[in-house]
Amino acid sequence: MRGKIWIYIEQIDPDALGLLYKLQSLREDKKNDISAIISTDCDPAPVFLRGARNIYRLLGKGDERKISGQIAALCREHTPDVIIFLATISSRNIAAMVAAELKTGLSADCTNIALRNDNILVQTRPAFGGSIFADIICEHRRPQIATVRPGIFLSGNNSFSEGAEMGEIINVPESGDEAFTCLLKVLNTGLQPLSAAKIVLSGGKGIGSTEGMRLLEKLAALTGAAVGASRSSVSAGYAQYGYQVGLTGQIIRPDVYVAFGISGAAQHLIGMEDAKTIIAVNTDRKAPIFEYADIGIVSDWKPIVQKLITVVEKKKMAVSVH
Ligand SMILES: Cc1cc2nc3c(=O)[nH]c(=O)nc-3n(C[C@H](O)[C@H](O)[C@H](O)COP(=O)(O)OP(=O)(O)OC[C@H]3O[C@@H](n4cnc5c(N)ncnc54)[C@H](O)[C@@H]3O)c2cc1C
Repeated sequence: MRGKIWIYIEQIDPDALGLLYKLQSLREDKKNDISAIISTDCDPAPVFLRGARNIYRLLGKGDERKISGQIAALCREHTPDVIIFLATISSRNIAAMVAAELKTGLSADCTNIALRNDNILVQTRPAFGGSIFADIICEHRRPQIATVRPGIFLSGNNSFSEGAEMGEIINVPESGDEAFTCLLKVLNTGLQPLSAAKIVLSGGKGIGSTEGMRLLEKLAALTGAAVGASRSSVSAGYAQYGYQVGLTGQIIRPDVYVAFGISGAAQHLIGMEDAKTIIAVNTDRKAPIFEYADIGIVSDWKPIVQKLITVVEKKKMAVSVH
């Protein structure tokens, strides 16, 4: 059975080219077609050289919502069997929106992929904190969509596909405003640059509501900090996934990490334990986070944050008056 395998390339870099190179190895006797979806700015030449037969070039400077609309429309027209994305912050948002739009499955953060003879994609990813590797398949819905961790498949500069030839470049016009608003509420990160921030104010389940998280955002905006979150607070809908710190979120090393209402589970600690100074605010004096904190405050988080906001706002006003 001839399969159509697609890859979305956000930018030409070793991770993207490595993944493309890996996809070639899924082409048994070249029976599968590999096509790439690239942004307007990407150079198509290295993509063709690494085995893509066709290139769909997305026109316009679309945001993630528009790009996912363009990709979903392409899928409806050309019915690919598989689309692979690199698990970058932007591409995984796009992959999730495409999967939701096409009502198909998505395996996030895979560490390996293989293609069975019947064109079923075997998507391998760590589970239960990395203690096992699960093989996931999406038997009935198409396309099968997976994101693959950057850095897993690398190719040298010279790893070109044998018999590579320049194929067709198909320009894809910008799509209109598809109604992804609902999903965007969850996924659209409008990210604070968490990875680069010197100070991170992070909210856990103990924050208790989205309003609580807005209060943290207000303090962060006033102090030039970024906002982080635990997985439980993301799952509860208080924070966007882009804020998540930890094993399945971002690993960060800020100068100061302040954990409000976060218990200190191992999967969270992995993401922030290398911060230079850790401050924890928690009502439970036995919360594990206190074992890792340089400064621990046993208290409800809210009055502390409200007081900080008042103090910082007063200071700012005093500075602007003088
Ligand atoms: C495979 C796997 C991957 C995971 N990846 C991640 C990850 O990337 N990141 C992550 O964070 N977690 C991850 N988890 C989940 C993790 O195990 C914990 O469940 C999660 O970190 C708990 O989040 P939390 O501390 O916000 O919530 P809880 O454990 O529920 O803790 C809430 C805390 O808030 C305190 N609190 C309550 N009210 C207040 C108040 N008013 N003021 C102050 N404190 C208050 C409580 O005392 C408690 O300590 C993962 C789990 C698994 C199995």
